[in-house]
Amino acid sequence: MKSVDNYNFAGKKALVRVDFNVPLDKDYKITDDTRIRAAVRTIQKILADGGAVILMSHLGRPKSGPEEKFSLKHLVNRLSQEFQTNVMFAPDCIGDDAVRMANDLQPGEILLLENLRFYKEEEKGDPTFAEKLARLGDVYVNDAFGTAHREHASTAVVARYFPNDKVTGYVMQAEIDNARRVLENAERPFTAIMGGAKISDKIMIIEQLLDRVDNLIIGGAMSYTFVKADGGTIGSSLVEMDKLDLANRLIKIAKEKGVNIMIPVDSIIADAFSNDANVDTCLSHHIPDNWMGLDIGPNAREQYADVIKNSKTILWNGPMGVFEMSNFAVGTEFVADAVVDATRLGAYSLIGGGDSAAAVNQLGYADKVSYVSTGGGALLEYMEGKTLPGVAAIERDDY
Ligand code: AMP
Repeated sequence: MKSVDNYNFAGKKALVRVDFNVPLDKDYKITDDTRIRAAVRTIQKILADGGAVILMSHLGRPKSGPEEKFSLKHLVNRLSQEFQTNVMFAPDCIGDDAVRMANDLQPGEILLLENLRFYKEEEKGDPTFAEKLARLGDVYVNDAFGTAHREHASTAVVARYFPNDKVTGYVMQAEIDNARRVLENAERPFTAIMGGAKISDKIMIIEQLLDRVDNLIIGGAMSYTFVKADGGTIGSSLVEMDKLDLANRLIKIAKEKGVNIMIPVDSIIADAFSNDANVDTCLSHHIPDNWMGLDIGPNAREQYADVIKNSKTILWNGPMGVFEMSNFAVGTEFVADAVVDATRLGAYSLIGGGDSAAAVNQLGYADKVSYVSTGGGALLEYMEGKTLPGVAAIERDDY
């Protein structure tokens, strides 16, 4: 893959697709700048070479046209501080003013474009819109792994206009290297931990993993579809009734392939979906009527931690329970502790985006695991074996 490392940006204007989709509070203050910090290395490399940087990103999900709360101008101060320079801002990502500002840009300078999604053409992958963006730079850099699974104008289509000058940034490169390491060179025992709400979201990746892992740990709401499929009674726990056969099939395939598939033996149950609900512990196969499983139980925790600590490769996607509520966060914290312990003992641990990444960050464990992916959906699709348009657009000469 062509990377920023083997491109000399001296005298060039680099059009860089970053993922600056950061959370803002009601005063437009950035509440988590992880994504900005992630992009710093790529931007610094371009500046250090003697290039200029034109940053483009989406922010949130604007419905139709500009909206104050989704304006990227709220990031200008933070970026100016980071790079110790006056970051300029183009209030429209295309058009005469953007072209003029890009033309005037000098080596070492940074221009931030307004939210790409203020144009519906962005998500449609409109080639005319992509071509207008392409006019702004001499080289295209894609460092937005989080949107690499989308064929949008700025994430893929724009690459067509830079047939010989398109490269991946460090974030993108690191994401792909880490995913490949787990998929292609996993040291055994390899344990995948899958949690979260639905089997239907994770079915493809679970199927892929059954060919690779030694242990498949299941947690979160999707556990109860497995328990129900296995003949258990699950009270009012979340369940996907149309996925019972699928759950049984996965259990059967796991057995055939010699994969140790683990469903939580016990659960923390509650009589309402609330942190103030009455709470109890019971076997996951015997949840009383009107009670629901909201976290893995103490025995499941211990069993899971044991397996995790004896693993050499760990992939984790999805919380073990409703970790947003403190009474149902213990299972997720326990698993996070075990992943940290295993990493200290030499295991390689990849935290796959979304809520599991949020949990690890919340606990302050980001530096205690091997890699925290920034792209939940993109990572899952990559691991499912799908081609990511954002990656293909850079890799393939005929894109
Ligand atoms: P996902 O986006 O599929 O990774 O799902 C994450 C969401 O699943 C989080 O918001 C959790 O609160 C939720 N979740 C995890 N376990 C349960 C459970 N046992 N019952 C209901 N929701 C759950």
